[in-house]
Amino acid sequence: MQKGNISVQTENIFPIIKKFLYSDQEIFLRELISNAVDATSKLKTLSSRGDYKGELGDTKIEVILDKEQKTLTIKDKGIGMTESEVEKYLNQVAFSSAEDFIKKYKDEASIIGHFGLGFYSAFMVAEKVEVRTKSYKKSAGVTWICSGDPEYTIEKNDKKDRGTEIILHVSDDAVEYLEQGRINELLTKYCKFLPVEIKFGTKTETVYEGEGDDKEAKEHEIDNIINNTMPAWKKSPRSLKDDDYKAFYNELYPFSQPPLFWIHLNIDFPFNLTGILYFPKLNNSVEVQKNKIQLYSNQVFVTDDVKAIVPEFLTLLHGVIDSPDIPLNVSRSYLQSDQNVKKISSYITKKVAEKLNNLFKKKRDEFEEKWQDLSVFVKYGMLSEEKFHDKAVKFAMLKNVEGKLATIEEYKEKIKATQTDKHGKIVMLYTNNVNEHYSFIESAKNKGYDVLEMDTVIDNHFVQHLEHKLGDVTFVRVDSDTPDNLVQKDEVVESVLNEKEETKVKEIFEAQMPAAGASIMLKPLSPDDQPVIITRPEFMRRMKEMQALQGMSFGDMPDSYNVVINTNHELVANKLLKMKSKEKKDDFAKYLYELAMLNQGMLKGADLTAFINRSINFLK
Ligand code: ADP
Repeated sequence: MQKGNISVQTENIFPIIKKFLYSDQEIFLRELISNAVDATSKLKTLSSRGDYKGELGDTKIEVILDKEQKTLTIKDKGIGMTESEVEKYLNQVAFSSAEDFIKKYKDEASIIGHFGLGFYSAFMVAEKVEVRTKSYKKSAGVTWICSGDPEYTIEKNDKKDRGTEIILHVSDDAVEYLEQGRINELLTKYCKFLPVEIKFGTKTETVYEGEGDDKEAKEHEIDNIINNTMPAWKKSPRSLKDDDYKAFYNELYPFSQPPLFWIHLNIDFPFNLTGILYFPKLNNSVEVQKNKIQLYSNQVFVTDDVKAIVPEFLTLLHGVIDSPDIPLNVSRSYLQSDQNVKKISSYITKKVAEKLNNLFKKKRDEFEEKWQDLSVFVKYGMLSEEKFHDKAVKFAMLKNVEGKLATIEEYKEKIKATQTDKHGKIVMLYTNNVNEHYSFIESAKNKGYDVLEMDTVIDNHFVQHLEHKLGDVTFVRVDSDTPDNLVQKDEVVESVLNEKEETKVKEIFEAQMPAAGASIMLKPLSPDDQPVIITRPEFMRRMKEMQALQGMSFGDMPDSYNVVINTNHELVANKLLKMKSKEKKDDFAKYLYELAMLNQGMLKGADLTAFINRSINFLK
């Protein structure tokens, strides 16, 4: 037996490794299994080149748990190491790279904490690490043992089979890694798509043997293989059918609704990247669905936090990105300025826009069918990425209250003749709630206008965005003004009342009006419009919405609205003015006002009950 000291240049790094990124402690398993996969792949390469002539045999990697001995073993049948290789790789290469890594990132809180620590991450969970290995080259097996200090021993052993066993003697503060459930969880998280089969224990499989009445259920013990070595994203798109993509989606996210469609990414220049991105059903919400893209590096799971790598809006997508070209052990701020990462990000954005554009051009029906589910995503993308906006502005759809879809350009064409205002702007009328705005929508339609439905969570922003980007368009909500004024034109409607009568009408209504927020005005509208209309001016409403969104409040702005009396309506021009008693006039005006409130959903609680009781009395 030979003893030695690992050449420690600075301090003893073992205590640091032990504490290192405690929350990321679990990555040791991924690191060790990745090494085992590498060793196996190397052997396969040697064999395919004819540099290794022996049998490959079964190359499964095994993860073995022994709770009594308190060990966790990772066993591969890869290239193994000779004694001098153990010296070189474990004592020098692995050690100094671990040392470098720790030195560099000890103080970096936001490390993406992934690859780099390698073999020595074993010491995060083990008090003693034993490596038993035998090289594919003709040489004796060796055992290397290190107990978490710079001292190690190395000696020959009688290991017969090729490959490496890493035996972790799990320390008392890491006993969770002796639990089958915990190891299963880690294997599923990090190793699900590794390219070499990984066995973790066995499972029983029931097979039916025999025919007819003799048919018998037989139970077999079979290897429990935890990974799919050939995940869909590694296959050629031509070899995959729709069902294969859907099945893979299910494998990634069991029990979720099927995706709308997907993009298979595959590029090897100027960087290497494969993957499949799925468009999920968003159900009109942005938040809950985020962070479902998984980042892999050569099929090893790295993280599901891809914010630094893809633009924010794309984090709404689901699926897998696999790229060995994304630097994995650096901080997020560094990643965001990395040139490769920038290229990857804009490549993905471009691919997504192309996919949507293709679908729009080639299968417009299908595109329209899916629009409801896509719209939040597309709008969010247009808002947040200039480049995406430029592409999407051609296929983004507007939907009117009849459910008809049109591109922005098509829609402008459609309404231009009727809905251009006196300043030459095209006025797009919209509602965010068809039910609540029913009468306003009807009035707009009676004027020959078209009304859009803008009811997704980000439409407030989207509306502003389009106004800003398009320049010649303005959005006006149907309840923001009286029908005549939604699209401002220079038409003048004569009032049937003279000045004196108007003053009278105004006085009567003013007496019924609560003070706050409301301002009253008389307007000669069409006799078919309602007698009293309450409107919420577009500008003030948007200010309020913005404030609410930013969580600001300047002493809570009151709801501001206008009460417009239609002086050309029969009930105002005739009936009201002709009433004899002041009391009757007051009651009548109040009633008309309350009907308008009811129409805007503003009549609530005690006021509503009082209104209903008075209506019942009227009927009596
Ligand atoms: P890295 O894998 O990044 O090179 P590690 O510290 O994980 O760094 O490992 C150092 C070296 O030890 C590897 O490059 C490899 O040569 C050797 N090694 C580690 N694990 C194995 C294994 N299971 N089989 C063969 N060689 C291994």
